[in-house]
Amino acid sequence: MRIPFNKEYHFQCEIQYIKEVLDKGATAGDGSYTKLVEELLETSFDFSKVFMTTSGTHALEMAAIALDLKVGDEIIMPSYNFPSMANSVVLRGAMPVFAEISEDTMNIDAADIERRITDKTKGIYVIHYAGVGCDMDSIMDLASQYRLYVVEDAAQAVNAAYKGRYLGGIGYMGCLSFHGTKNYISGEGGALVFNSEDESMKRFLEIVRQKGTNRMDMIRGQASSYRWMNAGSSYCPSEVLMAMLYGQLKNLDFVKAARCRIFNIYIEQLSDLEDKGIIKLMKVPYGCEPNYHIFYILLKNEKERSRVQAELKEAGIGTAFHFMPLHSSPMGRSLGFKPEDLPATEDLSSRLLRLPIYTGMEVNEVEYVVCNLRESLMR
Ligand SMILES: *Cc1c(COP(=O)(O)O)cnc(C)c1O
Repeated sequence: MRIPFNKEYHFQCEIQYIKEVLDKGATAGDGSYTKLVEELLETSFDFSKVFMTTSGTHALEMAAIALDLKVGDEIIMPSYNFPSMANSVVLRGAMPVFAEISEDTMNIDAADIERRITDKTKGIYVIHYAGVGCDMDSIMDLASQYRLYVVEDAAQAVNAAYKGRYLGGIGYMGCLSFHGTKNYISGEGGALVFNSEDESMKRFLEIVRQKGTNRMDMIRGQASSYRWMNAGSSYCPSEVLMAMLYGQLKNLDFVKAARCRIFNIYIEQLSDLEDKGIIKLMKVPYGCEPNYHIFYILLKNEKERSRVQAELKEAGIGTAFHFMPLHSSPMGRSLGFKPEDLPATEDLSSRLLRLPIYTGMEVNEVEYVVCNLRESLMR
């Protein structure tokens, strides 16, 4: 049997929606599907304002522009991270300050944030790894105490919640991704969630997203032409992609339920290995409702991970171990960080292994993975 690490899942209705866009001959951005998708996200997740973007990376870039990050500013973020978050800060001349993660979730360790706050700190950026929420109560408390902005990278956490609130909707801003590897996909795509009622910032973001122009006024029929208003860029996705995404998002619950089923089989069938101290299973803390984006385990050490990964590959099973810590990456080192700065991050990231989980995964496929993993671990 061959089990890929990940596999896209598409719905019939996506083709119909895309065809409609092509037939209309209106493939550029900010047409009816973009509006539908923005409204669907706002209603389903109780977000106050959503701006669709060309990627999750671009949503992070828009957030950095909104915060007016510049040389001398610092942003506290986990080192166990995708490069996009750090890039969005570095591209504006500001500095990432890396914090540790906690062992039970791989999310930023709320207790490690406070000692890294200086006069230069402008914000706390968090990732909800694997679609499991960070300790947002502690993080929001710290942010209000020190008057810092919170940006949530909820790229992996669309349709996941923390204490009854959807992730991406808790901090000042949230960034979502609809990349082909995520739970809901448009190939490339993302969204910036703006959670404040600050109307002038909403207006500013609308202009930044549309090449620094007030083109949205024209699209709404409020102006007959548009002009250069501010520095901005092109963050607006094609209607073709938004049509695809609309078809995906109409199936929010189906995708979550299908992935939940796979997730639960892993937990049930691997729990005895945890009891015997052979592996650690990923945890979902009290108050977190995940979206089952990732299933991972922690092994004893890096050597064992390499061996298990190679043996699973031999059996036709794809696995992965993203992320690689940023502080010890070539770019992190060039910014002056050293591997020993964050020992927990180095240790945990070297032992984590992600197992296949995708919407269309069959029960016999999960069982094949479990069976081969057990064999490998019992050797
Ligand atoms: C996927 C991902 C991104 C990047 O999203 P794109 O849409 O591919 O730009 C950013 N952060 C995290 C945590 C991700 O998982």
